[in-house]
Amino acid sequence: MYQKYTAAAATASAITSNAFTFCSMAAPVMNRVLCIVAHPDDETLGCGATIAKHARAGDAVSIVTLADGLAPRGAVTSEAIKARHGMLRRACKILGTEDVWIHQYADNQMDTLALLQVAQHIETHIARFKPTVVYTHWKGDLNVDHRVTHDAVNIACRPQPGCAIRRLFYFEVPCSTSWGGGFKPNYYVDVADTFTAKLEAMACYETELRGDPHPRSYGGIQQLSWWRGSQVGIAAAEAFMAARIVA
Ligand SMILES: [Zn+2]
Repeated sequence: MYQKYTAAAATASAITSNAFTFCSMAAPVMNRVLCIVAHPDDETLGCGATIAKHARAGDAVSIVTLADGLAPRGAVTSEAIKARHGMLRRACKILGTEDVWIHQYADNQMDTLALLQVAQHIETHIARFKPTVVYTHWKGDLNVDHRVTHDAVNIACRPQPGCAIRRLFYFEVPCSTSWGGGFKPNYYVDVADTFTAKLEAMACYETELRGDPHPRSYGGIQQLSWWRGSQVGIAAAEAFMAARIVA
């Protein structure tokens, strides 16, 4: 809690910090990472290696998908939905989490929903998980579900007293973000150690992968990580736009 600074308080603080140096070194603070995406595979394409990095660091990670991602891929049968959900769960397990929440708004039709409805839906996950870090889509994406998800997450993450969210990031999805506009990353995550996990997770979505030189091919995904890494002088990176960082 904020306290007015006084010399007496400073002295007391110094005594306290000296007395408990051992405790402060013993327990690193764990992040609670919530990734909210429109479709199964967006979590892997957008921030899969970063999710794996969080998980390996001991952070709690929860994934929420909102739409089924099937409409442009043929008939939306119960078997197709089940198969896509299986891909998502396998991919997330590779990335390091089994905390996966699946919702089934109709694909590419989220703009027909009331934004408030989607935002309130996301608020239930924020209340459930109490995230300190949130990842979601960029507002300029070509895909309408991505844009609605972005707007709804922004509403749900609006600053309020007591809000635990200290970092909010937007990621890029190959194809959709590059064909949209305005994505100018200002936050890069070094993913040299976890990029293989991203590719392994992406392999779960065999129906979504394309051949080279498509942006959603193995080559395209790899090239993007090299390109983003080269922008900050490292071998491989996932790039984000930081909407909020509270240090
Ligand atoms: Zn998507």
